[in-house]
Amino acid sequence: MTAPATHQSVYLRDLRLATAHALVTHAGGASRLPTDSPTRYLQTLIDELCSLSLRDPLTGLANRRHFRTIAEREIDRVARSGEAALMLMLDIDHFKQINDQHGHIVGDRVLQCVAGALAGCVRPMDTLARYGGEEFAIVLPACPAAFGRSVAERIRHAVERMPIVISPALTLHVTISVGGAYALEWIRSTTTLWTERADRQLYLAKSSGRNRVHIEEQPDSTVSAEEKSLLFGPLNAPSLPDNGLNPDTATDVDPEDGFR
Ligand code: GH3
Ligand code: MG
Ligand code: MG
Repeated sequence: MTAPATHQSVYLRDLRLATAHALVTHAGGASRLPTDSPTRYLQTLIDELCSLSLRDPLTGLANRRHFRTIAEREIDRVARSGEAALMLMLDIDHFKQINDQHGHIVGDRVLQCVAGALAGCVRPMDTLARYGGEEFAIVLPACPAAFGRSVAERIRHAVERMPIVISPALTLHVTISVGGAYALEWIRSTTTLWTERADRQLYLAKSSGRNRVHIEEQPDSTVSAEEKSLLFGPLNAPSLPDNGLNPDTATDVDPEDGFR
């Protein structure tokens, strides 16, 4: 049986904090650790460790663990709201050649520059992560299907045109392949499935020549005007005469509202 919790003081000298302190100091967080109060010191140490555990040290982007948590939350939101959310998987083309020709340190510099270019393309509400190796991933909430391809193309183009200056004598250029898939609307799926769907598109982008975008075709989510009014209309509202001005029965529906 578990002993009932009692209110106890914790003394810092009884805890083994040296490794945690060294990790935070090494990551540049020493100046943020307060020295005036043990409680504030401990809380800040925990906060700094949490932040470290969510970030990729080379690029400073979210890591795969953080990305998957965000994707899971987004699946939940899309299932409840029906709002479109896009996942992009992005992979640097022929990256191994850069390591082979110029060395690992230059490869690292390329990864940092690509991360910077990607960060410059996303909105504050998007989550950009280094998914692993030379692969990045982005979750873009509230991204209507009509915009997905142009957003992905803009990102691809930003990387393609970026000069990566390694030294006065060496400037590199890289390209990326991009695969994308939308979260399933009104259906609670899994992060693994969503990631696999985006990955499949990335594979198609690679196998069809690289430096290109492949976005999964959206499943035909045709919703009739009647179904739409049942989903979104006021409960028990009297039906309006069909004079073409009734938005629920008008046939000229704006395609960007997600219904055809
Ligand atoms: P593809 O166009 O098919 O994606 O080819 P690729 O060469 O980019 O892919 P491949 O999987 O053959 O090679 C990826 C390379 O990325 C191999 C690995 O050494 C390198 N890599 C992974 N992580 C890092 C890293 O943190 N730093 C550096 N410099 N290289 C890394
Ligand atoms: Mg690659
Ligand atoms: Mg790869």
